[in-house]
Amino acid sequence: MNPSYFITTLGCPKNQADSREMERSLRKRGLIPCDSAEKADYHIINTCSFIEPAREETIQTALEAAEIKTSNPRQKLILSGCFSERYPDEIKKDLPEVDFIFGTGNFDRAGEIIEEQFRLKPETGYGTPSLKDKQQHYAPLKISEGCNRSCTFCSIPQFRGKFRNLEKNKILAEASLLAKEGVKELEIVSQDTVSFGNDPDDLLDLLEEIQQIQGIEWIRLLYLYPDRKTEKILEGIKKRKLPTLVPYFECPIQHASDRILRSMKRAGSASFYSRLFSLARSVSQDLEIRTSFILGFPGETEEDVEKIIEFIQSHRIEKVSLFRFFPEENTAAALLKDMVPEETVLERMNEVRRIYLDLLREIHRERMGKVYKCIVDSIDGSSILARRPQDAPEIDESVILPFREGIGVGDIIPVKITGYNEYDMTGIMEC
Ligand code: SF4
Repeated sequence: MNPSYFITTLGCPKNQADSREMERSLRKRGLIPCDSAEKADYHIINTCSFIEPAREETIQTALEAAEIKTSNPRQKLILSGCFSERYPDEIKKDLPEVDFIFGTGNFDRAGEIIEEQFRLKPETGYGTPSLKDKQQHYAPLKISEGCNRSCTFCSIPQFRGKFRNLEKNKILAEASLLAKEGVKELEIVSQDTVSFGNDPDDLLDLLEEIQQIQGIEWIRLLYLYPDRKTEKILEGIKKRKLPTLVPYFECPIQHASDRILRSMKRAGSASFYSRLFSLARSVSQDLEIRTSFILGFPGETEEDVEKIIEFIQSHRIEKVSLFRFFPEENTAAALLKDMVPEETVLERMNEVRRIYLDLLREIHRERMGKVYKCIVDSIDGSSILARRPQDAPEIDESVILPFREGIGVGDIIPVKITGYNEYDMTGIMEC
């Protein structure tokens, strides 16, 4: 019997894409999927190291996995990804239960690497990279790796490296394979999506080719850095026919005070972001915007936070993520003076969240009675969980509607919005 594996994935949709690439490689080398970490011969944790809470979750997960190993001593525990890339020596010293680590660069060779490291001889020969048995109806599709930008709060370039495009034919091959495996919705992901290719037209060309793939019904762009490239992409989207591109603009601006944006070394300004968001709204009238803000950046004042609140309200932003600033190791921001006390940061986050939720209630009221083509994410005995094109999987709102015979996961159905609670909505099938 060939050895089995189980992958635990932490972190962002990019990590999910990496885990999928790893899994294809493991299967190709004959390793077989196991339905539990306890029983697997190889337990791989694809780690995250983005900010302090993410690292704590990685360490906690590794310690729990080490505990699991005590009941399956033959098991090999492997750490891959961002945390492994960033802290190889610390893992060796502080997590002796970990048998092997590899970083962020070789997910497509994970099978060979593990085969070599543990001298595996797959008894029943090699397998196929198909994941048909476990594919969901949506999946992240990575188009590039790394980042050349230098946001002063961000450590990602330290362990994801410089920006590099993935080969177009490999991206399209993976998109086709996903479609064959039943995927209908693709989330285009990378650290810096708008830097794909040599100019913005390359990303638009890629979107046009992806939408030719049979079975792909929705395409969503994620991680659009707020600069001129994004402006050109929005203008290009307006000129081209991209019916599968969902009305969704995800663009993390991180702050709305120009003074803080300069200190973060972010491109643009609040007035440029305003123009960008207005341009995004002109792409399609039912487009919704997701953005994120970092609160508590060194030197931040109440006036700076006011600017965030004004920006959210004046642009009626539908989806807002709030992050607390963490002085990340080896980043320029960690050396800045005027750190904001934790208590003050949490007060500011609560205040911005309160105001955002007031706005979201108004936005929910405007959605009442509207009909959206929703994709079915899950079904249990009594209800269906669906999602509008304006909502990203595992990040944004869902619509809960009564169970209906004959509806399947991945189906796209017309849903009328009938109610809402804090984030999610309720609805009925309209037909
Ligand atoms: S764009 Fe900035 S925040 Fe995003 S990965 Fe690059 S350096 Fe980090």
